[in-house]
Amino acid sequence: MGQAKSFGVECHAVSADDAARMFPFIVKDGIEGAAFIPGDGYIDPYSLTMAYAKGARLHGARIEEGVCVVEILREGRRVRGVVTTHGTMSCDVLVNCAGLWAKRVGNLAGVPLAAGIVEHQYFLTEKTLKFDASLTTLRDPDRNFI
Ligand SMILES: Cc1cc2nc3c(=O)[nH]c(=O)nc-3n(C[C@H](O)[C@H](O)[C@H](O)COP(=O)(O)OP(=O)(O)OC[C@H]3O[C@@H](n4cnc5c(N)ncnc54)[C@H](O)[C@@H]3O)c2cc1C
Repeated sequence: MGQAKSFGVECHAVSADDAARMFPFIVKDGIEGAAFIPGDGYIDPYSLTMAYAKGARLHGARIEEGVCVVEILREGRRVRGVVTTHGTMSCDVLVNCAGLWAKRVGNLAGVPLAAGIVEHQYFLTEKTLKFDASLTTLRDPDRNFI
């Protein structure tokens, strides 16, 4: 909650009973309370990515897929281009948005990044119609990293 509030995200502490009212599928045993973030939600990641791509193209971006940056060309402290698996490209500005590979890409430019990777577990379920579409999303961060 402290972290959420430090980012200006609205966040409320609620009792275990309130949490169970919002998300009836939890077992309340041992639960002291929960953090409720009204602005949290679910969005289809594929559609969101496609929407971003469409917006970028509308504003003149060219997107090339299946291309890997293997070397970063520099002049002194400035990046001048990248060597990719599809050839060399020059640039004035390079944005490192390689996600969990950002540290590796940073290293190509000699820039150490204090970024680490934390393994997540996830599972896929069959679709069910038992859940109301307005059901709040639930996260159990205590169990994220076991
Ligand atoms: C299992 C899982 C579940 C998640 N669930 C959620 C969730 O529910 N909600 C949420 O908000 N977030 C979730 N996240 C986190 C979210 O997916 C990431 O924060 C987000 O995708 C990061 O976006 P990004 O664009 O910074 O990086 P990424 O989406 O990781 O994109 C980085 C891109 O860089 C490319 N790349 C890497 N190296 C190179 C290179 N050398 N040359 C060229 N391209 C390169 C990669 O191929 C990739 O396409 C989840 C992540 C995981 C792994």
